[in-house]
Amino acid sequence: MKAKRNRFGTGPQVSLFTLGTMRAIESVEQMYSVIKEACLIGINHIETAPAYGPSEKFIGESLKKLNSEGIKPINDWIITSKILPGLNFSNGKKHIEDILSTLSIQKINNLAIHGLNLNDHLNWALSGEGAELLQWAKSNDLIEQIGFSSHGSYSLIKKAIESNHFNFCNLHLHLLDQTRIPLAIKALEKGMGVLAISPADKGGHLHHPSKTLVEDCSPFLPIELAYRFLLAQGISTLTLGAYKKEDFFIAKKLINANSPLSKEEQYAINHLMNKSKTRLGETFCGQCRNCLPCPKEVPIPEILRLRNLAFGLDLQTFAKERYNLIGRASHWWEKVDGSACQHCGDCLPRCPNKLEIPNLLKETHESLGDTPKRRLWR
Ligand code: SF4
Ligand code: SF4
Repeated sequence: MKAKRNRFGTGPQVSLFTLGTMRAIESVEQMYSVIKEACLIGINHIETAPAYGPSEKFIGESLKKLNSEGIKPINDWIITSKILPGLNFSNGKKHIEDILSTLSIQKINNLAIHGLNLNDHLNWALSGEGAELLQWAKSNDLIEQIGFSSHGSYSLIKKAIESNHFNFCNLHLHLLDQTRIPLAIKALEKGMGVLAISPADKGGHLHHPSKTLVEDCSPFLPIELAYRFLLAQGISTLTLGAYKKEDFFIAKKLINANSPLSKEEQYAINHLMNKSKTRLGETFCGQCRNCLPCPKEVPIPEILRLRNLAFGLDLQTFAKERYNLIGRASHWWEKVDGSACQHCGDCLPRCPNKLEIPNLLKETHESLGDTPKRRLWR
């Protein structure tokens, strides 16, 4: 099927949706089925990584079979794979060679640093052994362009984008968490490709939205509104981690839908935000980040964002899942939860909303933490 394509850095153009292959790893038949469906609806971009278990092996086998059946996108597949930062030159070289051989391809279109989350990772890519490795891969024509995925801080991602070293970035961009949208716009303005990581699942479990969220987004489905919001911002491509053919239902409908938001869509988004704000009342955190830095390194905005979602949109399950990952995911997520607040009061005068930050952190910890003691929210 002919579908719209967006610029993606200096590489070949990509479809508005990208097939994420982290989930279809039960068997090669499952991978074959989702890749085939992706192709049939107009997707030409596959995102994978050696860290996704047998994903690359199954992709390689599936593409061989699909090629023999004459099923492939116009101008062939575009593949993004990744390498972890910090590898020494010889290990990195082996990793890249393994990716090529497992996928049975001659060249990786887009190679991303997988989880450029720390300053050390950026230094590795810009001037350490990573820089040497990437240069080797490029000069041997093994990769077309270089990018990064990041779960790191705003300032680190900004630095990476401004380094002019990367052609694309994969970022957490969500309707319900718009923190990194300015970074995405900056990257697009610099001519980089921007891929939104998991806008549905990590964007609030939008495949299984709360009744409140469904009502607030009506007449649109929450997932549809979330996808449209990102596409209308000009985000190059959105990942869709398909498990089965039916998971393409919304993407099929929106495969060419990157026009500006309609009045109805904009109204629904405003309505959703206003409803959430009204429910939160004087406890709404506007995510301005003025409260930082905290001497105890409490990530106040991130914790209060989860609180906004839990109590403003009834996304309790999602917020609890994310909250309880704090301190358990190394550099992939926050390290300190709300219980680390020592009530020093430093943040209080900096909050334009005059929030009782220490009390809200305590309440959030008690409500979302693994062993909630009492529910303070009415
Ligand atoms: S009151 Fe708590 S959150 Fe605020 S700056 Fe002090 S320790 Fe950090
Ligand atoms: S300053 Fe206040 S409103 Fe802004 S992020 Fe911090 S807590 Fe939220």
